[in-house]
Amino acid sequence: MAILVTGGAGFIGSHTCVELQQAGYEVVVYDNLCNSSEKSLERVEAITGKPVKFYKGDILDRDRLNEVFDKEQIDSCIHFAGLKAVGESVAKPWEYYENNIAGTLTLVDVMRQHNCKNIIFSSSATVYGDPAEIPITENCPKGQCTNPYGWTKSMLEQILSDIQKADNEWNVVLLRYFNPIGAHPSGTMGENPNGIPNNLMPYITQVAVGKLSELGIFGDDYDTPDGTGVRDYIHVVDLAKGHVKALKKIEENAGLKVYNLGTGVGYSVLDIVKNFEAANDIKIPYSIKPRRPGDIATCYSDATKAKEELGWTAEYGIKEMCADSWRWQKNNPNGYQD
Ligand code: NAD
Ligand code: UDP
Repeated sequence: MAILVTGGAGFIGSHTCVELQQAGYEVVVYDNLCNSSEKSLERVEAITGKPVKFYKGDILDRDRLNEVFDKEQIDSCIHFAGLKAVGESVAKPWEYYENNIAGTLTLVDVMRQHNCKNIIFSSSATVYGDPAEIPITENCPKGQCTNPYGWTKSMLEQILSDIQKADNEWNVVLLRYFNPIGAHPSGTMGENPNGIPNNLMPYITQVAVGKLSELGIFGDDYDTPDGTGVRDYIHVVDLAKGHVKALKKIEENAGLKVYNLGTGVGYSVLDIVKNFEAANDIKIPYSIKPRRPGDIATCYSDATKAKEELGWTAEYGIKEMCADSWRWQKNNPNGYQD
């Protein structure tokens, strides 16, 4: 039996393929490569010494999905495939709803027709909106999202929950990621953003490598210890391991489950800059810019539930996150194009 990993060539998906193979699972990747390179899968194979079966295809393409489910013995699906750029989602809402929601509906329909009813879904802390409580537990009510990307996550959580409630043969695990950064410690796999990065860590590493001149810090007047935004940064390898634990939960016929995947620790933008500088002995020039629309002051998890129910806790600290992000960028200044 194999695990279908949609979006498996992407940042989190490729790291998860490594952990799955190292835990003994057979992996089948399905990805249209719209935001990734097949080279990431060669790197997975180099690390694990095992081949990755790859199908190029779109989650909107029912025929192609049917072909994969007909050929392979798929037991469960880890569903990463989706568009994720917040700003782009504001400019292209239709494309985001079509790709993420219609794509997931197609995938889930093909799954049930093949009697495969186990899915782990990549959700996000963005579903909490401006959170009603800090640290954020899974009981915190979902909030108002500030962009279509966030709404696709919130709506898909609802859709998958309703499907599970209507048919309890389904096992659905919703994983709400906090802020994934870092890279594989080998320095051969990491985040590969198109164009100018939107997220903090890839922006910092591109300043460090000389591609960008300085970091703009979006606001220093938030109600936080140093005025800059506070987030729960989590090493991508820890996040990937969380998926292996979630699969174990599915194997116990878990029904519907929701977990935060975070460290439970909040760092400000300035904390990240200082830790990056100290871990790598590189100066990061920065200037303070206006707040970015839609940003909140503080967002970090209560990570207790995943610890108690999945036996999972993040093991890497901020030093490793900064060192590993830099090792990847330094060795691959142009990502997988190098
Ligand atoms: P990524 O862009 O690196 O990976 C997503 C993958 O999905 C890419 O390889 C892309 O080619 C593929 N894809 C997109 N649309 C597809 C389609 N229609 N058919 C087939 N493949 C398609 O992003 P990531 O950072 O690895 O994120 C993985 C998942 O986790 C996404 O669903 C994302 O929304 C979610 N997530 C990411 C973050 C983050 O900060 N990176 C935070 C919370 C949630
Ligand atoms: N941030 C910043 N400059 C950047 C990118 C991000 O100051 O170039 C800040 C942002 O305002 C937030 C934090 O860094 O406080 C994390 O932002 P990111 O986009 O990485 O993740 P988000 O939490 O918004 O999903």
